[in-house]
Amino acid sequence: MITVAAPREPQPETRVALVPETVRSLVRAGHRVLIEKGAGVAASYPDSQYTEAGAQIVNGIDLATIDVLAHVTPLPATAIERMRQGAVTIGLAGPYDGERVAALSAAGVTAMSFERLPRTSRAQSMDVLSSQALTAGYRCVLEAAIRLPRFFPLAMTAAGTVPPAKVVVLGIGVAGLQAIATAKRLGATVSANDIRPDSAEEARSVGATFIDVGLDSAEGTGTGGYARALGDDAATRQQAALAPHIAEADVLITTAAVPGRAAPRLVTHDMVAAMRPGSVAVDLAASTGGNIEGSKPGADVAITSATGEGTVTIVGLASAPSDLPTDASRLFSKNVENVLKLIVTEGEIAVDFADDIVAGMTITHAGVNRLEAPAEPETPTEPAAPADEGTDA
Ligand code: NAD
Repeated sequence: MITVAAPREPQPETRVALVPETVRSLVRAGHRVLIEKGAGVAASYPDSQYTEAGAQIVNGIDLATIDVLAHVTPLPATAIERMRQGAVTIGLAGPYDGERVAALSAAGVTAMSFERLPRTSRAQSMDVLSSQALTAGYRCVLEAAIRLPRFFPLAMTAAGTVPPAKVVVLGIGVAGLQAIATAKRLGATVSANDIRPDSAEEARSVGATFIDVGLDSAEGTGTGGYARALGDDAATRQQAALAPHIAEADVLITTAAVPGRAAPRLVTHDMVAAMRPGSVAVDLAASTGGNIEGSKPGADVAITSATGEGTVTIVGLASAPSDLPTDASRLFSKNVENVLKLIVTEGEIAVDFADDIVAGMTITHAGVNRLEAPAEPETPTEPAAPADEGTDA
């Protein structure tokens, strides 16, 4: 029997790493589950539901005694240093923060990082980046819709015809695809751009028109299915080609990211100011550098439109999945459970680096920082290291 625990996440995080449904399944599998008091309240999972599912509610988790800690946000140093050597952490570990990784390694913790999960078919059921991006892509369209002083759908009424809103989505990853699908469901006309060559077909498959900015496919192709950072010249060409589409749009949604780097700046102040007064631009990357110049995480910024009349609103989302914490947590929790199934054999933890998912996700183990250390001989080909890809040159 292993002991799995989930803490109350530090504010302002509203998600929780384990929901009652998962707890029930873990308890059924013979595990002991500890939930910190109030951990699920912000996500609408009261303590009573956890107790009903078989968890023990504790005032504080004794980190020195548990086997697995499931967490949403990267663990603070104060928690890491209290963990038992050999314990496993599963969550968004913050693998690009060298100090944090060093602390996890020094504590002898086996830290499994969702940010490092290989993007393979077998890993899909554990893919937190996808499950959370899905909620973010949905949410950002709703944020735009409630601020837009117009309908999204075409309305043909006795009082006249209202044309559908025009939405432009930049970045056609998981969040962007969900944003396109959500905007389409609301009745908008959607066009989209991304620098990965496959993205054109992906955008069309959910009903968007692809905006071709004329880049060579090699310019946007990184490794592991990710984009690479564009060089200055390509980025300038992309901006020039996108500007007229953005100026015509009622809503701009940006979701572009390059793993391990600041979000690419795709849209300048002037490009947003050229939109019609009343238009809305939502920056999903506001807290990771910002795709839109002037966006602020967690804030609406009104900028004067280029005509000098009226304003365009830039909405900077801080953590969109945390704005849908019930379902974001439900998916996160299922992702955690599926990772647990990989590392628990006959009631014992067995971390097997012959498994590409385990090898890819594990950033520290037995005092070794695996992001720095050469791979063990038995380790198969490591998944691509997104932090090292791309070039600014
Ligand atoms: P992400 O969050 O890393 O980035 C979001 C999008 O921004 C990506 O599509 C990226 O190409 C795009 N982008 C980066 N720089 C840009 C720029 N300058 N201009 C425009 N767009 C830019 O992406 P993600 O949602 O994590 O998906 C990354 C890739 O992984 C995609 O190819 C996706 O289909 C794939 N994926 C595979 C699996 C799987 O097979 N298990 C699961 C999820 C995603």
